[in-house]
Amino acid sequence: MSSKISRETFIRSIADLLRKAEIELPDDVVDLLRKAEAGEESHVAKSQLQAILKNIEIAKKYGVPMCQDTGIMIFFAELGTEFQPGFDLEAAIKEAVILATAEIPLRPNAVDPLTRKNSGNNTGTGIPDIHWKLVQGNQLKIIAAPKGAGSENMSSLRMLNPTETGSIKKFVLETIVNAGGMPCPPLTIGVGIGGSFDAAARLAKEALLEPFDIPMEGLEREILEAVNALGIGCMGLGGSTTALTVHVKKAYCHTASLPVAVNIQCWANRHASVVFRGEE
Ligand code: SF4
Repeated sequence: MSSKISRETFIRSIADLLRKAEIELPDDVVDLLRKAEAGEESHVAKSQLQAILKNIEIAKKYGVPMCQDTGIMIFFAELGTEFQPGFDLEAAIKEAVILATAEIPLRPNAVDPLTRKNSGNNTGTGIPDIHWKLVQGNQLKIIAAPKGAGSENMSSLRMLNPTETGSIKKFVLETIVNAGGMPCPPLTIGVGIGGSFDAAARLAKEALLEPFDIPMEGLEREILEAVNALGIGCMGLGGSTTALTVHVKKAYCHTASLPVAVNIQCWANRHASVVFRGEE
């Protein structure tokens, strides 16, 4: 069984996917921003939320990125075991990133971590960062989630003592207090609990992509209420909405470990997805 798609069409589709992610926020994210604006009593925070909503509208209308920091290119891919593209998917995604960077255009953000030399095209060793998951079936789903540095820099990971399950909320709150207005609130907060050191961070990042319209569970709601009681508010200027939502993802971990990662996302929770189907 092979995929119906040619390499050229695939590259075009991924470049278009990046364009969509950079220009248009998902509806459920915009809905929560609108709700936050409607419920905000602080005049300053309300005007900031109105400016964000206007920014979203203008980006869509004129087809331009919603923020000057167009992020580093991160992809989550679910590859069906029967989907056979007939070409190197990673190389094609990289080519699509180079194309999108030139076309949209995107700010070249990818640099060598030590020399700080910029590749000029948003690619380099390990970038784009592609997370693969094998699933049943003959389709390939790809989510593009460009991530800005302002929010990523304020994220945190801690290896808690296994007896400290009661300290998870405190760690999340410490992370948010430390972040203040730097990550451009209102935030989405992704929390990864369990796994290994790196798996916890991945869970936290995946949590940012969970749908916004599903009800939060106990710990998520508790964290959201506590975060919003901090009063950091929109852009750190005070107000009732520091975070729009909190998503927690868990995995089993070593009996002697309790890894907890907090991945912070700014108001611009950019992501978009596309599905390629194999031939029947
Ligand atoms: S944190 Fe988000 S909104 Fe703020 S500058 Fe970075 S990408 Fe843009």
